[in-house]
Amino acid sequence: MNFDIVIIGSGQAGFQTAASLRQEGFEGSIALIGEEPGLPYQRPPLSKAYLKEGVADRLYFRDAGFFGINSILLEDGCRVSSVNRHEKQVKLDDGRSFGYGHLVLATGARNRRLPIEGVDLEGVADLRTLAHADAFRATLPAVKHLAVIGGGFIGLEIAATARAMGAEVTVLEATDRLMSRVVSPPVSAHFLAAHREAGIDIRLDTMASRITGSDGRATGVELQDGSRIDADLVLVAAGVVANQELAEAAGLYVHDGIRVDDQLSTEDPDISALGDCASFPFGHDGMPTRLESVQNAVDQAKCLARRLTGKAERYAALPWFWSDQGPYKLQIAGLAVGADHHEQHSGGEGKLTVLCFRREELIGVETVNAPGDHMAARKLLAGDAPVTLKEARDAGFDVTALFKARKA
Ligand SMILES: Cc1cc2nc3c(=O)[nH]c(=O)nc-3n(C[C@H](O)[C@H](O)[C@H](O)COP(=O)(O)OP(=O)(O)OC[C@H]3O[C@@H](n4cnc5c(N)ncnc54)[C@H](O)[C@@H]3O)c2cc1C
Repeated sequence: MNFDIVIIGSGQAGFQTAASLRQEGFEGSIALIGEEPGLPYQRPPLSKAYLKEGVADRLYFRDAGFFGINSILLEDGCRVSSVNRHEKQVKLDDGRSFGYGHLVLATGARNRRLPIEGVDLEGVADLRTLAHADAFRATLPAVKHLAVIGGGFIGLEIAATARAMGAEVTVLEATDRLMSRVVSPPVSAHFLAAHREAGIDIRLDTMASRITGSDGRATGVELQDGSRIDADLVLVAAGVVANQELAEAAGLYVHDGIRVDDQLSTEDPDISALGDCASFPFGHDGMPTRLESVQNAVDQAKCLARRLTGKAERYAALPWFWSDQGPYKLQIAGLAVGADHHEQHSGGEGKLTVLCFRREELIGVETVNAPGDHMAARKLLAGDAPVTLKEARDAGFDVTALFKARKA
């Protein structure tokens, strides 16, 4: 079978690419091949509402009819095992081959496996897919003590949900603050206080050295200092790695993701990559960057669909992100990694806004329960002229006032 466009991976980026191609008027044939069974779905609720409610229908991007109406061949439950660039063909695990005019790699990421003893025991879980979430949901109501290895977004979202459902929860974080890879110290401190207030036992600077077990079941976690915590369920939430092996085996350049240019093309003009699996040039200095967010997957898909329908443009969307942890909504506009100065103000009732600067230029704004500030920050940061530290100081570091002043 031959297709004008073959998309590998039917997650957020792969699905959106197929849908956006049709929205842009693409009339050629499209095959969307995904390893997971069933209709394409969104992941964010898996660590949030879905754990409590379990309503799968709310996860799907579109019902089955959408694919028929839009002539998108959805091959679910099928893994692509190799790409032959010379023949312009992909091979599936079931032995079939699909020819392509253009190939889109939207293979996403997978959870990092911890190199410690005990990770294969019963009662050790991780969460990336709907199947993982269903297994986790099934055990959660009976869990007395959940140990979470990793104090990042997903670990903390699940910890907050499990705590609200009545479980005792301990979070083990190897670094000296929560979400240290992606948020500023003031936001880490805010969430540390909030989660401790909710009764979650958070241990910083704490490395798990092994998961203990009895009769094949997890019984707890042993820490590097030799102490132990008991747990009847252990969640490993220690970050993800890009699914880049298919590209690498096909001879494409990979380094923490499949390397693409500012139009999301690999060095093979017939192959593009996007979403969690792709590393693209970001910002003025074109720093290779791999983002793991819905915004990035969706905006890259729209950008790629425009290029593939003759409307090429540079990918330069402003990154933004959210995380819901108990009653707190964290929203981030811009990328604050590498910030050398922070200014914060709290609006009471758990609200917080942090402005992140690098070399006296505003590069990111993090807010907690302050959606107005987040929206103002998105517009500010998307503007052409950078916001300076002086300008922000003159506006009292009030993002909404700053935006209004700029608009006027
Ligand atoms: C629990 C959870 C909560 C999250 N919460 C948020 C949030 O609050 N906000 C936010 O912005 N982001 C959130 N994210 C991140 C967001 O969901 C991802 O950034 C987004 O799904 C990336 O889309 P993608 O299509 O690049 O990758 P994925 O959604 O991972 O899709 C990739 C797909 O490709 C398939 N695949 C891989 N290799 C092959 C192959 N060889 N053959 C066929 N298929 C293949 C995979 O099975 C997978 O289905 C969350 C993620 C998780 C797991």
